Amino acid sequence: NKEMLLIPGPTPVVDEIYEALSRETMSHTDMRFAGIFSEALAQTRKMFNTDGEVFVIAGSGTLAMEMALANTVARGEKLLIVSHGYFGDRFIGVAKALGIEAEVLAAEWGKQIEPSQIEEKLQQGGYKAVTVTHADTSTGVAANLDKVVPTVKKYGALFILDGVCASGGLEEDMGKAYGTDDYKIDVVLTASQKAIGVPPGLAIVAFGPKALESRAKMDGVNSYYMDINNWSPVMKEPQKYFATHPINMIYGYAEAMKIIAAEGTAARYRRHAAIGKAIRAAVRSMGMNIFAAEEVAAPTLSCILYPEGVNDAEFRAVLAKKGLIVAGLLASLAGKGFRLGHMGNTTNDIFCKALEIIGETLGEMGFPVDSAKAVQVFKDVFTENN
Ligand code: PMP
Repeated sequence: NKEMLLIPGPTPVVDEIYEALSRETMSHTDMRFAGIFSEALAQTRKMFNTDGEVFVIAGSGTLAMEMALANTVARGEKLLIVSHGYFGDRFIGVAKALGIEAEVLAAEWGKQIEPSQIEEKLQQGGYKAVTVTHADTSTGVAANLDKVVPTVKKYGALFILDGVCASGGLEEDMGKAYGTDDYKIDVVLTASQKAIGVPPGLAIVAFGPKALESRAKMDGVNSYYMDINNWSPVMKEPQKYFATHPINMIYGYAEAMKIIAAEGTAARYRRHAAIGKAIRAAVRSMGMNIFAAEEVAAPTLSCILYPEGVNDAEFRAVLAKKGLIVAGLLASLAGKGFRLGHMGNTTNDIFCKALEIIGETLGEMGFPVDSAKAVQVFKDVFTENN
């Protein structure tokens, strides 16, 4: 019986992926391995709808953030960071380490930055790129790409999207904007352990044509391992050597890409949107609030606020004893609630079980709630929206 790992990543890993991970390790120059890797890369390009290049290397999401910036914004160039929380802010440190001049638009936690605020900054001119976090894992706030992308594109800056808590669960279309010659998103960076459903260990970065052009114009990159010029020949022909591939992780990733293709990206995004709505409605039916307002809430995770008086450490420890692992809230929100991840290769049974356990535990702690009703609300809202 597996634990229910419902934190905002890593997410539950399905058996097909565990089986792929445990296959016999091949040589990193074996043509059979190259075939598996090439197929996974092709499927990733398809998922992001890009005719650019995708890089999948050993590392975590933070490496992917750094790789995205290092190859697009040179030392001394200006970057605008649009932050909806802790992970948006992380770009500040990354930019600093790379010698990039960063300006930050930080939203009040739980709120979105308005396109007009971005516009005001970009009007000042000189910004090479803008970073936006698709779903900020600290606040459960999602960016509104329909509004933000056109604003950024108006000023010609590169649009860099942190998809760590979104890719594979939320649409990230790097194709051309309708009726224009410009691309919507220039870079998507992500990691394996969230909506893609593979254990942690892979950094995934997709560079669109404009971002690749930008790298081509740079004299160099402040890193050897992260320079896409070193990886580009290898991603085209994975039997070539630059640095040893994480072979078994790539087996797992290739399996995940097959699972995503089989479900269909449109169906998968719809499923995630429906699960998000259903979880939030179910939680509210138990008398608890979601930190982010419904209009800005991310489909992949929820920051759930406790009723007054619940002891956070005790609540999560009891949940863990029952096999349900959730995460704490971060920074100023710590202790006030918990984070529930709802993304990746899940079936709805796990959420029904989780809601039951959450309700039962609240009851045991002196906060009686109707968890049977919450489960029904989850099922109904999911069906209405899927
Ligand atoms: N960006 C976002 C949105 C994240 O949620 C995370 C991880 N929680 C990161 C970046 C950093 O990824 P990692 O922990 O894999 O380095």
